[in-house]
Amino acid sequence: MIPSLFLSHGAPTLLLDAVPARDFLARLGSELPRPSAIIVASAHWETPVPAISAALHPETIHDFSGFPGALYRQSYPAPGAPDLAEKMADLLTAAGLACHIDARRGLDHGAWVPLKLMFPEADIPVLQLSIQPQLGPGHHYQLGRALAPLRAENVLIIGSGSLTHNLRELDWSGAAEEPHWVSEFAQWFEQALREGRTCDLLAYRRLAPHAERNHPRDEHLLPLFVALGAGGDGAKARQLHASATFGSLRMDAYEFSSPTPSECQTPSE
Ligand code: ZN
Repeated sequence: MIPSLFLSHGAPTLLLDAVPARDFLARLGSELPRPSAIIVASAHWETPVPAISAALHPETIHDFSGFPGALYRQSYPAPGAPDLAEKMADLLTAAGLACHIDARRGLDHGAWVPLKLMFPEADIPVLQLSIQPQLGPGHHYQLGRALAPLRAENVLIIGSGSLTHNLRELDWSGAAEEPHWVSEFAQWFEQALREGRTCDLLAYRRLAPHAERNHPRDEHLLPLFVALGAGGDGAKARQLHASATFGSLRMDAYEFSSPTPSECQTPSE
């Protein structure tokens, strides 16, 4: 079954900069089974109640300012997936999660920047799921769990954010070393994800070192919990990539998938 993914999308300049995370994403698309459709829970779409985008031809939203002009000429003309949006709404409703469908919303850069690197042909239907920062990690984990059955239909569920995200601490010159408070946070997450410590992960703000410094607001981490929930019960997390840009912006990526029967331990008699 196709895994779910957490991707760090970095700055919009990821499309232009020769950094390891860009090369990683450019490889990743061809290493996955080809998805029937893609759902992106993006850090750049916040609504009070979960919203699902259902435009037939989603526009490319250039939701950033002060970046090179070449970025504003980029587009990602993938088709939408209105039927899948309806199916998602049914799954969320069945799980007791209120939601609504937005027929006009396009694709923000949390979706189209990584997808342009992964699937440059833009021929796989894409839609987005919004996040609710006021509702915290547990809510986003539940959103992912509700959508997990779609993986059996080869739907790729992506949480797109950033493993660390404190814009005040970025070094835009790119010359700074990664600070210890970033490395320690990233190491804690890697270990907790690898060991499947879901309860600790959901309480990361209390348990992880330097949590608030890495995420003064945690809208860029919440998509990780959607991907974690979408991985299914007993999902294993595997780190696909680890690097940093601008000193403190970690670009880590993870995949989540439930163990296949051959990986399950059979009890010994
Ligand atoms: Zn972002």
